Amino acid sequence: YPCDRIRNFSIIAHIDHGKSTLADRLLEVTGTIQVRGAGANQQVLDKLKVERERGITGQSLLHFLEQAQADETSVKAQTATMFHTLKNKSYLLNLIDTPGHVDFAWEVSRSMAACQGALLLVDASQGVQAQSLSVFHVAKERGLHIIPVLNKIDLPAADPERVIAQMQSMFHIDPAQVISISAKSGHGIDNVLEAIIDRIPPPPASRDAPLKALLFDSTYDRYRGVISLVSVQDGILRKNDKIVSCYSNKKYDVIDVGIMHPEEEATGVLYAGQVGYIACNMKQSSEAHIGDTLHRVGEPVAALAGFSPMKAMVFAGVFPLDNKDFLKLEESIKRLTLTDRSVTIQRESSTALGQGCRLGFLGTLHLDVFRQRLEDEYEANIIVTAPTVPYRIVYKDKTIAVSNPTDFPDPSDYGVRGCHVEEPIVRATIIVPQKYLGEMMELCSEHRAEDIDHHHIDASDTSARVILTCHIPLAEIVSDFFEKLKSRSSGFASFDYEEAGYKQSDLSKMTFLLNHQPVDALAVIVHRSALDRTARTWVAKLKKVIPRQQFEVPIQAAVGRKVLARETLSAYRKDVTAGLYGGHYERKMKHLENQKEGKKKMKKIGKVDLPQEAFFDILGST
Ligand code: GDP
Ligand code: MG
Repeated sequence: YPCDRIRNFSIIAHIDHGKSTLADRLLEVTGTIQVRGAGANQQVLDKLKVERERGITGQSLLHFLEQAQADETSVKAQTATMFHTLKNKSYLLNLIDTPGHVDFAWEVSRSMAACQGALLLVDASQGVQAQSLSVFHVAKERGLHIIPVLNKIDLPAADPERVIAQMQSMFHIDPAQVISISAKSGHGIDNVLEAIIDRIPPPPASRDAPLKALLFDSTYDRYRGVISLVSVQDGILRKNDKIVSCYSNKKYDVIDVGIMHPEEEATGVLYAGQVGYIACNMKQSSEAHIGDTLHRVGEPVAALAGFSPMKAMVFAGVFPLDNKDFLKLEESIKRLTLTDRSVTIQRESSTALGQGCRLGFLGTLHLDVFRQRLEDEYEANIIVTAPTVPYRIVYKDKTIAVSNPTDFPDPSDYGVRGCHVEEPIVRATIIVPQKYLGEMMELCSEHRAEDIDHHHIDASDTSARVILTCHIPLAEIVSDFFEKLKSRSSGFASFDYEEAGYKQSDLSKMTFLLNHQPVDALAVIVHRSALDRTARTWVAKLKKVIPRQQFEVPIQAAVGRKVLARETLSAYRKDVTAGLYGGHYERKMKHLENQKEGKKKMKKIGKVDLPQEAFFDILGST
């Protein structure tokens, strides 16, 4: 296939607008996969029910896991090559998958670097949502040709005119260009294929130039190691080629190469303009750098622009419930990172929690998903410390990055050493029906948002929606912001954000003391405006969770030497069985037995006996 018969595109959409469904239809219509009967997804749905019954935290996570599972289990909603004939000419179409969530924005932009066009899919009943906007902007910045597609026109609630008007005003799209479809029924799919061929330009590639390939995705196969997806920008990539990574300068042998059709199908060669997989002797996913440029040994090329390694934006410590299980936990973490290259790992030790790992994630959703997978893999509960964003401590002569509260300087250091703290800021976009605007502005203000601005999307009527933008500290949205946003807008608000640099901020480290001894694992970074509230709520919470001791235990929250809140845990009566009525012998014995069990896992902090489980209770409910 010469370049002019190749089209590389992706589907971009807000979650649930039908990306996977459209991908499946395209694969079916082009004969890449068999048409599946109704109920083909039964297995997926059954699996989800189990998930639901176990009650994973938060709607968003649940939803994301559903997506992840649906994508894994359904016939490839992923990167795939299709063949399609139009007006007697045969074309090779490469659908390139892009991750659906903001946490993975970096990968989205890399995947788009392998495309010349994108189908912008919008649900005709939901209208343009926050993610539709953000993915549109990324695609636009990358210079992709955009084909607007209106999906779900079969729904009774579909309002095509209104949604097309939104697309026109927000994306400056000519309404005549919009293709109306139902991905579910298959209506309009042929028009989509025709538009892909007619409107998206062929890849600007040259077969005669030296090999230059963009690595834009990778998966891990237990038997063959890392499988990378590449877009050949120039030249020809063949089996047995010796290639070099521009990023690491490491050399590899191409062991296998082919197309995704939709499963791997060896072809032995990929020509300029094509997209496919390669297996080379990469042992670890961490060697497959998304955005890396590959070239042949001895034929250097300029690396494709814009590559910088992924950045972790949310950090948390992970500890076993039982200290002796640390190695097993670390083992499980390592196994998982074979398939999730974006997690960073460091060992960490805590006086309170013992040996553990400090992990870095792309965002909180990423953290939640990883945590869930880790608990499955490790087959036990784990303790995860409060998420922290990467702060910067700016001294006169240097700036250091701090992502662990333990490393945060004491307030007394500030004055002496003349430093200040900076925190990461994001630019947030919220789209919401007009009637929730006040509620949303309040929510943003409560979370230290600035530059709050809004304007209307639709002509004003009762169901009109507004788009609200603001700058907000990343730390403010890493805990329960999304859940609050959803509940306070009755589920109608959609939300997205992008990095917007760093800003000086009045932040301090708050420590919690048990019997005057600080508990390192509980330290948190708090903004001045939230000091008192945080101190009071945490101290009250600790009092509820920490078991009584044989003596009185003061529980305090402090910044530096200043105590901001205090509760006192009164001493308990020595005889634990005294409270049991009747003194039934068996029950008495059992109780003593339990107490002994518990003792084994006790930690001593400031003479206070603390079961590791208490930390699970404390941190688990944040
Ligand atoms: P994604 O999150 O963008 O991948 O969305 P999915 O493809 O998973 O679709 C989300 C939901 O919308 C699923 O329940 C689909 O069955 C449904 N859906 C997708 N396309 C259509 C359509 O054209 N009409 C109707 N009625 N439902 C659709
Ligand atoms: Mg999907």
